[in-house]
Amino acid sequence: MTSSLGPSARATALLSMQSEVLDLLVVGAGATGTGTALDAAARGLSVGLIDKGDIAGGTSSRSSQLVHGGLRYLQQGNVALVRESLRERELLLTTLAPHVVRPLPFLLPLRHRVWERAYMGTGLMAYDLLARSGVLPRHRHRSRDEALERFPSLRRKTLVGAMEFYDAQMDDARLAVAIARTAAQRGAHVVPHAALVGSLGVGSDGCWRVSVLDGLTGEEFTVAARSVALCAGVWAPEASALFTGSQAGVSVMRSKGVHVRLPRTAIDGETALIIPTGPSVLFVLPTPTHWLVGTTDTAWPGRPDEVAPEAADVRYLLGLLNKALDTRITPDDVTYVFAGLRPLVRDQAVGGNTAKVTREHRIVRVAPGVLAIVGGKWTTYRVMARDLVDTVVSDAGFTAMPCTTREIPLVGSPSNNPPSSVIAGPGLGEPILGAARFIHADVIRAVLDEGACRLEDVLDRRLRVGLHLDEVTDVAVRDVAEVMGGLLSWSAAETQAAIEEYVSLIRA
Ligand SMILES: Cc1cc2nc3c(=O)[nH]c(=O)nc-3n(C[C@H](O)[C@H](O)[C@H](O)COP(=O)(O)OP(=O)(O)OC[C@H]3O[C@@H](n4cnc5c(N)ncnc54)[C@H](O)[C@@H]3O)c2cc1C
Repeated sequence: MTSSLGPSARATALLSMQSEVLDLLVVGAGATGTGTALDAAARGLSVGLIDKGDIAGGTSSRSSQLVHGGLRYLQQGNVALVRESLRERELLLTTLAPHVVRPLPFLLPLRHRVWERAYMGTGLMAYDLLARSGVLPRHRHRSRDEALERFPSLRRKTLVGAMEFYDAQMDDARLAVAIARTAAQRGAHVVPHAALVGSLGVGSDGCWRVSVLDGLTGEEFTVAARSVALCAGVWAPEASALFTGSQAGVSVMRSKGVHVRLPRTAIDGETALIIPTGPSVLFVLPTPTHWLVGTTDTAWPGRPDEVAPEAADVRYLLGLLNKALDTRITPDDVTYVFAGLRPLVRDQAVGGNTAKVTREHRIVRVAPGVLAIVGGKWTTYRVMARDLVDTVVSDAGFTAMPCTTREIPLVGSPSNNPPSSVIAGPGLGEPILGAARFIHADVIRAVLDEGACRLEDVLDRRLRVGLHLDEVTDVAVRDVAEVMGGLLSWSAAETQAAIEEYVSLIRA
């Protein structure tokens, strides 16, 4: 089976989805949905995976990009979640995705001499013990001088020492694409830019009929499926209402998280930082080209599609950062800001304090044969998918293998490297004009192998220009659009429209 998600694979998947009765239609191609499609396909079920936008176009490309147990959750006493997350961290680092997930050293600066070192040291010892495997180095105590050597920008006046420990970092959008490609490799029909828009009810054969809108052509078609898994993240209430007429059955707390990006030169340091802030923690994360600083954690009352960072979010993050560093960072240093929404399990006990809400997941039966999943973390996507498919299998009475995803290296990892659809040709190595960090082959691979359909898919989630380039020039946007247009047979007018659509999106 092909791992390509390119235009011809998408067309084939669309046809198959319309002609077969699927065992499972998965709605949403973020971390949870791609994981669910892979899990179900690997168990031998016939699976369709759709998303109203791009793979990881929702929350899953706007995370802090950490594959971590979460020290904060340990502090909250959620040992089971931390243990589970640490096991997943090791699995991703060693077996599933060593090409996308890499070790990341952290410093935790200390400001109180005795009790804080004892408290954090005990917590980190527990963290190491829960991880068990020893894939990453164990935590270490660092003196004040050692901490400053590793991170010269740390605020000297208040620093008494630091703890050093390891977690892992990923490219979240790339990981989702790798999972989606592996699902396709196992037989799932993967169709990004296809939205679930209605349910037509259950037929006499006991299968659901749902309406799906192809976002590229505007055509609507019907899909038949024995069961439906709504992995729609913060859109879960809307998606479930298509089956029940009410959003009340699936309740999520939408919590906004904002990150700012700073140039590498703005801060002098060679590790990541984790800074306890009372209700939450502040991460200062090195990327190959920049620093990412985040995140906020506030309830978002608005529509999920309209989430956006505000000046107050930036002020809040920089305020915390400036307390921890000697270097003064101002809003002028910020070169990019982005916001995402956490789809948290609604928890009456903590009221509006989203930082206190559990990061565990919950499966909800929306209607017979229709399940929704909310909550969870990127790090635990595989466990969420396993639990969801277990429930699908038992509810529907399918004969299926148990979950095997622990043993399935994702596409792109050293032991799963299928041939690319990109055929060697002249011009592949040509740099993108105005963005020489990338070459034409990157764009071609994004379209032919990785399911990018729109300019935004290539620029924002395959090349990740927002994270890596200081400035996205008009010239670069045009060059990428022209390479894409050549592959997707866009007319000159369509190419121009794609450019204008992208530019207005960036401005918005
Ligand atoms: C700021 C921030 C930082 C975070 N940092 C971390 C971290 O460092 N580590 C970690 O482990 N976790 C982190 N998380 C949590 C993690 O990112 C999320 O738990 C995870 O990405 C949620 O994935 P999902 O697939 O459930 O949702 P999404 O990624 O939002 O996917 C849902 C998908 O459903 C699609 N959809 C919705 N309605 C329809 C429809 N009608 N038809 C078709 N498709 C539809 C959407 O387009 C979307 O792509 C963070 C979250 C945030 C917001």
